[in-house]
Amino acid sequence: MKGWQLSFDEESLDGAENCEVEISHVGDSEIIAKVDGFEVVAPIVFHSPYHVFCSCKSKYSCKHEAALIFYIEKHPELLKNSQREDDLIISIDENQLRDFLKNEMKQNSKLKKAFLDKFGNESVIDKQYYIDKLDQVFRSGEDRSFVDFGIYNIDMMEYALYEFMNNELPKILEMREHSFACSLVEKIAEILGDDLAVSHDSWYGLVEDFMEYVYILEDSIYLTSDERKSLERATSEIVSYL
Ligand SMILES: [Zn+2]
Repeated sequence: MKGWQLSFDEESLDGAENCEVEISHVGDSEIIAKVDGFEVVAPIVFHSPYHVFCSCKSKYSCKHEAALIFYIEKHPELLKNSQREDDLIISIDENQLRDFLKNEMKQNSKLKKAFLDKFGNESVIDKQYYIDKLDQVFRSGEDRSFVDFGIYNIDMMEYALYEFMNNELPKILEMREHSFACSLVEKIAEILGDDLAVSHDSWYGLVEDFMEYVYILEDSIYLTSDERKSLERATSEIVSYL
């Protein structure tokens, strides 16, 4: 016997068996039913009925109330209404959730459409993150001559710039954000294209890697002709030293 049954007399519990329960509403916070024609409301608190009340004239807990509680016990899915999903979405590992969504969208075109409608226009990358990261790279090349003449020390930023080009740019291209990659490449070009930059030992090595990305972007189907022209302009200085 369950604890809640202690609130009912034996007659109500026995009588409940023969009551006809017809659920009329299932909500997050209450379940309402017609039991033998009487309306019974079961408020739901923490996924369980609490203080169930009936519209019949009985002074105490009645068989209709007991009938509805028995019914809810037998049909726990009534209590899982949305809350169960919400709980799971919070508790499931995000990679599992992503895999599920990916697989599900392959077969469920409606879900795929809803997903694209909702997120299709949003950029998939955090652009500010990459802009800040590239700024940091440039900061690492600021020495005395930068303070005095605004000239970056390419040798000092060599490692950070390699890192950025070979770790971050591929990620951006992987996400088909070619226009954005192009804008970052142009920023790098401004620094590598400075005629004093050529005097650094690290310049040729960096430019070799750098030009790989320039060529990839120039051939890219994602850039507009204006973007490509702009990229060619930005890199023309560098190309002239090669
Ligand atoms: Zn009743």
